[in-house]
Amino acid sequence: MIACAEHFLPGNDAEPKPDDDVVSSLSKTLGVQAITTDDLGIASKDFGGLKFVKPLALVRPYTTDDVARVVRAAGRSPTLTVAARGNGHSINGQAMAEHGLVLDMRSMNELVQLVRINGAPYVDVSGGALWEDVLKRCVSEFGLAPRSWTDYLSLTVGGTLSYAGVSGQAFRYGPQTSNVTELEVVTGKGETIVCSKTQSPELFFAVLGGLGQFGIITRARIVLQEAPHTVRWIRVVYSEFEEFSSDAEWLVRREEGESCFDYVEGFVFVNSDDPSNGWPTLPLDPQQVFDPIHIPPSAGPVLYCLELALHYRHSDNPSRVDAVVDGLLGRLRFIKGLKFQVDMGYTEFLLRVKRDEEHAKINGVWDAPHPWLNLFVSKSNISEFDSEVFKKILKDGVHGPILVYPLLRNKWDSRQSVVVPESDIFYIVALLRFSPAPPKGPSPQLLVEQNRQILQLCLAKAFDFKLYFPHYHSRQDWINHFGNHQWSRFVERKTAFDPMAILAPGQKIFSRVP
Ligand code: FAD
Repeated sequence: MIACAEHFLPGNDAEPKPDDDVVSSLSKTLGVQAITTDDLGIASKDFGGLKFVKPLALVRPYTTDDVARVVRAAGRSPTLTVAARGNGHSINGQAMAEHGLVLDMRSMNELVQLVRINGAPYVDVSGGALWEDVLKRCVSEFGLAPRSWTDYLSLTVGGTLSYAGVSGQAFRYGPQTSNVTELEVVTGKGETIVCSKTQSPELFFAVLGGLGQFGIITRARIVLQEAPHTVRWIRVVYSEFEEFSSDAEWLVRREEGESCFDYVEGFVFVNSDDPSNGWPTLPLDPQQVFDPIHIPPSAGPVLYCLELALHYRHSDNPSRVDAVVDGLLGRLRFIKGLKFQVDMGYTEFLLRVKRDEEHAKINGVWDAPHPWLNLFVSKSNISEFDSEVFKKILKDGVHGPILVYPLLRNKWDSRQSVVVPESDIFYIVALLRFSPAPPKGPSPQLLVEQNRQILQLCLAKAFDFKLYFPHYHSRQDWINHFGNHQWSRFVERKTAFDPMAILAPGQKIFSRVP
């Protein structure tokens, strides 16, 4: 067992604090290795680029025991907190710990182990594993793959399971949290517990979607399926929101046994030739062209795209694949002439956002601030949301994807900590802003203000909605987020598993108990 701890150097004039003693004793018990200066900053920033918080130390745990020791050591101090940091792709400092200990979960020993239970395949992975590594290893070593994904895979298993983990497969298999059967967790009391639906179920359900409040996920057992070889990836365009949404809902409601796509997403884009918000963002391949001649004169300031994918194997007859696709597309009311399609490898499809990341890094927008807004909006309010938000507030786009697609509530387990709207169908709405940093782009504060305006509108109209990746400033806002019943449950779970409120201080829900 080895781990590294590194002080964020107090200035020469700083008085040593009792917490510094905790860190130096931790350094002795865990075994200290020097870490490079390049690594020092990762604990104080995240993908959002809106918040910078200095921890007391960055700890690199290699084993579950290391994690447990760190939590127990923090518990011996009256003030120390511990933030598990996955890949730091939060946007509001959720993986940070002001004057606390940040655990770099990616340093944990790699684990990708196939497990068969009654013949069914699962994979055991470490909480700090990146989903992209889980994908590559499962496909290349076992010919198998998880069923439910996020769009972008440089996220850790523990990081997405702390929220939900949503992409175009969630209508069918539920979010990633619905595709886990067992977890190993270090609670806020420093205990290591293996839990599942039947073994310590209260902890299992608490941790899934639990915003890191109840325990640190050190291992997860994920359901696998046979990996397809190829994917047909399709985009079709709509000018009318009602047609777009009713087609999307028809697709996600297909019954078991009926033909259906394996992936259903949707997004809004600007009805103009703007290169980062409009028509040019649609084609899937450089040879394809978006010809606006097909857009009906009745179209408004924004258009809608249904993004679909069908999996198949090399052994499938190509005419069967065409027949399934044509059969499904034939029922949809998209604008004929605005259909884009490519076939590509399954892994390549799942890693599609990695290519966008490379471009965004080159043009500087990856490292600029990202004031994103993610919401779940009830089906009953989505049409008004379209008229008020997409067509008005966001009519010029967000310099990045505006996702909107339906999810089925019955695929979400209400025993988990995540909260979603009441209705049977709700939409995920994600404003994935990629504006250049000022002075080339708008000030991030202006965009935060626009997010606030959207939330105010949802509140004023009493929409049935929830924030995904919630971020609030007051206790009352958290209570409103959960609703009275779920808030009581959340507090009971906190009392049971992290009574001193050591874990995930960056979520700003509970204060450390001395
Ligand atoms: P971090 O940001 O490091 O941590 C997030 C929270 O989880 C923190 O509170 C942290 O303390 C806690 N945590 C981290 N690891 C653990 C652990 N092992 N145990 C317990 N708690 C832990 N989300 C989707 O659902 N679908 C998407 O398609 C999607 N696409 C994205 C694309 C991009 C480019 C980005 C930047 C984000 C995207 N997200 C998406 C959001 C993403 O799921 C969350 O930001 C997630 O938290 C990122 O994981 P991370 O490993 O970086 O977690």
